[in-house]
Amino acid sequence: MTAKDIGRLLENCPSSSLLAQIGAQARRSGSRAAVVGGFVRDLLLGTASQDIDIVVEGSAVVLARQLSGLLQGRLVKASPFGTALLALGDQKIDFAAARTEYYAHPGALPVVTPASIPQDLFRRDFTVNALAVELLGDDGFGPLLDPCGGVGDLGNRRLRILHAGSFQDDPTRIFRALRLANRLKFTLDTATEELLREAIKSQGWRNISSARLMRELRLMFDEPDWVSACRDLERYGLFAPLFGPALTEDWAGKLEKVDPAVEFFTGQGLAVDRIGLAGLCLKAYFLLPARLARQIRPAVERLPDTRRELAGADRPHKIFAALAQIPPPVLAYLWIICQNGEEQRPIRRYVEELRHVKPGLSAAQIAAQSGSGPQVKMLYNKLLTAKLDGRLPTLEDEREFIQRLAAESTHGGL
Ligand code: ATP
Repeated sequence: MTAKDIGRLLENCPSSSLLAQIGAQARRSGSRAAVVGGFVRDLLLGTASQDIDIVVEGSAVVLARQLSGLLQGRLVKASPFGTALLALGDQKIDFAAARTEYYAHPGALPVVTPASIPQDLFRRDFTVNALAVELLGDDGFGPLLDPCGGVGDLGNRRLRILHAGSFQDDPTRIFRALRLANRLKFTLDTATEELLREAIKSQGWRNISSARLMRELRLMFDEPDWVSACRDLERYGLFAPLFGPALTEDWAGKLEKVDPAVEFFTGQGLAVDRIGLAGLCLKAYFLLPARLARQIRPAVERLPDTRRELAGADRPHKIFAALAQIPPPVLAYLWIICQNGEEQRPIRRYVEELRHVKPGLSAAQIAAQSGSGPQVKMLYNKLLTAKLDGRLPTLEDEREFIQRLAAESTHGGL
């Protein structure tokens, strides 16, 4: 990869003029800026990434602030640790001051020292991410900086860490490795894989804060090939400690059904998302927002009863009665655990048809016919039951039905 080649790739990418403006502003303010990491990696792989990471020799926060004024962007975050996040419409650009990181002991927070852009590349996670190109404003783009052999590893589709202590220093890299290897369809280099296994065995990952661990898991679950990443978690012995009880069941088979279920339920306007549904399949309630987890737990625990009710539901109103109180994520989970199409059929019918059924008469109209009072709700429910079973096709049928019931009620029939 010559300087000309990388320059041409950058000139032809959709973010070219933005990168040129970042470079020009860095030069004007006496700093240096380079595009780094995943953006360069993906560019070399022939895919344009939306996410841009900029490393700055000088103040990253000042540069981000200047660009936010110049490009009418929004400075979303600016931290005292020399990082900033700039939003330009939908595009997000991360800025970080070039630095070296030193870990006093594995898992410690790194001691950070300002450094040059080439030095900064040595604190990165994988060789294919330790790539940068300086942004030279009007002079275009600098040569590709690749001090760790990232281009060679890209060619061999191989993920390699930069030094033997990398996973111990920062165990989130274990999750990053599995996520990235799955996304890029790369294999772990032999020594890297060995070190990853050792790092998992040494349990250092248990010291990752729950917020960071959740962030890593969320990112993993956001990947197109997330089920395969879960299989890797199992293969490397991380799955059981993370999701313990689910292992005895057919968890992978369930996870394979999550995306089709999400597609069906969201297509019907019901709020079901992948990570929440995966959380239910794995009995990993921590993957769901705490309030939602609390709300839906009783419905999950009742599912064996619900399945029995559904199996005996010989009329539509019984299907409705079995499912009407079940929150959408649990309904989707029920759909997943059903053994076959036959068992799923009433759920589909409920979602597509029955839950939309409403009597033509309102409660006020029923009250006008029957007199107000507690019987209105009862009459409404009976009306709905009959309507669900298809016994009241017209509004006139509904009026007659209410009239009859109201009359029976006055004669003590209700
Ligand atoms: P993605 O395509 O998933 O966004 P990315 O490579 O751009 O991948 P980011 O999480 O945006 O990943 O991080 C940007 C860059 O920062 C990475 O390319 C890598 O060089 C570096 N980086 C991120 N996390 C770590 C880490 N835990 N240890 C070392 N370097 C990291």
